[in-house]
Amino acid sequence: MARHDSILSTIGHTPLVRLDILAPPGVNLYAKVEAFNPMGSVKDRMALAVIEDAERRGALRPGQTVIEATSGNTGIGLAMVCARKGYPLVVTMAESFSVERRKLLRYLGARVVLTPAAEKGTGMLNKAIELAERHGYFLCRQFENEANADVHVRTTAREILDDLAGLPLYAWVTGFGTGGTLKGVASVLKRASPATRVVVAEPDNAAMLGSGVPQARDATGAPAASHPRFRPHLMQGWSPDFISRLTEEAVTAGHVDEVVPVAGEAALRLARELARCEGIFAGTSSGATLAAALEVAQRAPAGSHIVCMLPDTGERYLSTPLFDGIDAEMNEEELTLSRSTPGYRFEAPSAPAAAPPPVSAALDAAAERFVDETLAAAPVVMFALEWCEFCWSVRKFFARQGIDYRSVDLDAAALQADDFGGKVRAVLAARTGAATIPRLFIGGEHLGGCSELFDAWRDGSLRERLDALGVAYDRDQTLDPASLLPGWLHPRTTTA
Ligand code: PMP
Repeated sequence: MARHDSILSTIGHTPLVRLDILAPPGVNLYAKVEAFNPMGSVKDRMALAVIEDAERRGALRPGQTVIEATSGNTGIGLAMVCARKGYPLVVTMAESFSVERRKLLRYLGARVVLTPAAEKGTGMLNKAIELAERHGYFLCRQFENEANADVHVRTTAREILDDLAGLPLYAWVTGFGTGGTLKGVASVLKRASPATRVVVAEPDNAAMLGSGVPQARDATGAPAASHPRFRPHLMQGWSPDFISRLTEEAVTAGHVDEVVPVAGEAALRLARELARCEGIFAGTSSGATLAAALEVAQRAPAGSHIVCMLPDTGERYLSTPLFDGIDAEMNEEELTLSRSTPGYRFEAPSAPAAAPPPVSAALDAAAERFVDETLAAAPVVMFALEWCEFCWSVRKFFARQGIDYRSVDLDAAALQADDFGGKVRAVLAARTGAATIPRLFIGGEHLGGCSELFDAWRDGSLRERLDALGVAYDRDQTLDPASLLPGWLHPRTTTA
């Protein structure tokens, strides 16, 4: 469908992509690339399904707050669905999940309540239950909600069968978090072709399914305690510290033919190989699923067709071990490449130094008056450009220190007529001898730019001048202004 009524109908219909480079010869290995979902993960499917199921059942009232415990992808999917449908969302999440997930959630308008890492998955789940009961929120319960497995019956499994178009499927490989994907897809595949092997991967250091040790449950069927074989592992989104009801149901139904343990190192290596050999950018659990799929492929009969799930995009892992060793700075090889031509190098800048201020005999009289009046009107004045990064650093500094100031944006639309902003800039350059922006004035006297302002804060002289002028500031702040400078300016770390 080329046109959509909303982002929500773009969920699903993800492609099956053949992995020709990584698959062993003679085996047809396909990846179902769930990063194609609008928020980049398989959980978009569940998010929409759980909300629409609750709407149909009348369990979710218009405008009611939705809450869920999630390692991130579910929350991000829910945040999209709730944004479009107008439900406030609260997400509870253990502090150990990557910070980009928290930021994405907040960006989409959700509130994020963190729980201590030591309390594991159970902690964030219990916090969600507490908050739901206390505030009357709708709790999604993705670990038990049948709508979670159902959506994979209706969509994921159907898509796989349709895309295979009658080709016999030797094996389907997945991990499990809630077990929604596992339970839903396995039930359809087993009905369509009982010979298809359902292979479940799990971290080798947290082999809960592989151990055969049952999950302790309370009277309601909810996990009563952490599974004894659970250990912290790398594959975010996989294997919480318990075997969920949906996962157990897939096992009890006899739908799981094999459990493959996967080492964290293998997951990282294969996620990177997916990117570098196949051009597919996916997360850690995708690398882990691929590791298990390759093991299955090695022993599969020639000509077999195998499908593995790639649950999410790699972009969610920039701050995790998946990106260890991926630096922001140039390494030796890149520096050597840079030095292989003469220009545009850090040791030998080819750009001329900042141009000296234009010496203009004819400064604009109105601009001169404007500068005088601005300086007379406030003790702390910044002449700025709207989106200049250093001006932003100064604005953040003043806000954090509680310092009242007047800012004039020289490139603001209001100052563009007749290039008045440019004329003011020429006046400032002539008076200060500095061509760069921002220009800061304290009590009408030129102090300098961003660096001089921060230096004056550090050596105490700014405080003295503010005190003399009776300008208030937060005396308890221990902020290092350097932390407010643009990220790319922070000291270069040398890379080994
Ligand atoms: N991988 C990732 C990255 C996930 O976020 C999830 C969902 N928790 C899964 C795999 C597992 O999916 P499911 O919950 O359907 O078992």
